[in-house]
Amino acid sequence: MAAQRRASAKKRSTAASPLTPEQTTAWVRTYGRHSRIYAWGFFALVLSMIFGLIWWEMGEVNDDVLYSFSFAAAVTFLLAGWSRKQTTQSWAGVVEELFMKQVRASRDGNQSDDITYSPRARIRTRGGKAMTLRLTESLYGYFAPGDVVFKISGLDWPEKAEPDREERVCLACGNLYAHGAGTCPRCRAPEPDHETLLRLVK
Ligand SMILES: [Zn+2]
Repeated sequence: MAAQRRASAKKRSTAASPLTPEQTTAWVRTYGRHSRIYAWGFFALVLSMIFGLIWWEMGEVNDDVLYSFSFAAAVTFLLAGWSRKQTTQSWAGVVEELFMKQVRASRDGNQSDDITYSPRARIRTRGGKAMTLRLTESLYGYFAPGDVVFKISGLDWPEKAEPDREERVCLACGNLYAHGAGTCPRCRAPEPDHETLLRLVK
């Protein structure tokens, strides 16, 4: 273990290798901060567009404009807060069930609707709460009922507490990649130290 760590420390200067525990903690913190900044920056952008549109429609800023804008702002704020809550939660739980949810993809014209299937996982958290997660096709094959899984605040995808595959999940984009790759080949997010992630959830 120590030798392994030394070897990976040596490798780090040249090729990409997994983050150290300290780097992992720093990466999770920075990633969470950035996702917060992007989310609220997007929120501010949407609000200014709404304000501009109402103003342009009404031709001047009067009480009506301010009222409609406050209403739009409140609704957007609730939606943004709700969607952020999904991302900012940290939890650990057990996969109870994997299933395919029927999703109706409506098409234009009088063609009948297409039924597609979207993979989901039902999770029971340690606190006893049930939740349903949307998965990618590859994550659907990766997780199995009975797996203990966790998710870290600020990151988007869950991972197994005890990785039993040759692959691991990229917590940033949901891609699967080989242990020790150093970075996710799809989104370039660094490979975190698994033990540190588990400590961060507790
Ligand atoms: Zn990725």
